[in-house]
Amino acid sequence: MAKIAFIGLGQMGSPMATNLLKKGHEVSVYDINLAAIEKLTALGAASSPTLNEVVQGCEFIITMLPNGKLVEHVIFGEQGFVNAIAPNALVIDMSTIHPFESDQIREKLNALDIQFMDAPVGRTSDNAIAGTLLILAGGTDEQIAKASDILLCMGSEIINTGGPGHGIRVKLINNFMSISLNALSAETATLCEALDLPFDIAMRVMQGTPANKGHFTTTWPNKVLKGDLSPAFMIDLAHKDLGIALDVANQLHVPLAMGAASRELYSQARAMGRGKQDWTAILEHVRFCSGLTK
Ligand code: NAD
Repeated sequence: MAKIAFIGLGQMGSPMATNLLKKGHEVSVYDINLAAIEKLTALGAASSPTLNEVVQGCEFIITMLPNGKLVEHVIFGEQGFVNAIAPNALVIDMSTIHPFESDQIREKLNALDIQFMDAPVGRTSDNAIAGTLLILAGGTDEQIAKASDILLCMGSEIINTGGPGHGIRVKLINNFMSISLNALSAETATLCEALDLPFDIAMRVMQGTPANKGHFTTTWPNKVLKGDLSPAFMIDLAHKDLGIALDVANQLHVPLAMGAASRELYSQARAMGRGKQDWTAILEHVRFCSGLTK
């Protein structure tokens, strides 16, 4: 059984630390919220008023905090634990933080010969309770192998994301897509309501199309991802359809901020000569605007 320090006992950290305890690990905990600590000590965790004492002799030190500044603070701040880390210990940040801050933390620790990996989590606090989180492990293969037993006390699946810093980058990509899609979904549902359409019928239609299935696995694989921009459905037509939706929404006084921004992307693509290309060529347009293609 491993000796583990767990710092940050919120919505996620509290059940994650609880699951480590349940699997028989020796867990010492720290949080600025005393009630959160008491909940864990009642279950058998150790605690101490200083971070240095909490991490003493631990093989793994896990942080699960709201942001990168706090992760940096608990490690390198005035009361931080950096000087109390045991030799060969592995610091694992499971928070969702800015990837460049995560890189800086890893580089600062590595310069002191201290091991660090990023292992943010996917799914929700219900999964944290059930121990079924999706763990996006960003570390060397050796670090991931070393941590996998304890990570699997908190999650049901570990994805090796391909190297240090990749876990937090995949998390960012996943959250970008899912959070943006949430807003676009809200605009779609609102337009549906304004048109007096039953949502279940609209859903049934969208479940069979890229609207709900997404483009990565439907329209992209055989077209833009293969370099084939010949039109199955033209950018010009996609632009026209989006224009109709925006006009209808306008007449019904429904603002569609994301829809309008999307239409402008198609307008740009058309203006740059892509009107007769497949709608998946919007990827090439965005890559071009980002300086990734000539
Ligand atoms: P939370 O706000 O519920 O918990 C954060 C905990 O950190 C609190 O208990 C707080 O007291 C503690 N804390 C703050 N400053 C501290 C300090 N200086 N020293 C010690 N403890 C300190 O947040 P959460 O929902 O548990 O999220 C934690 C991380 O997990 C975040 O990075 C979040 O983005 C990520 N995440 C959350 C979810 C979710 O569904 N809630 C899902 C995936 C990832």
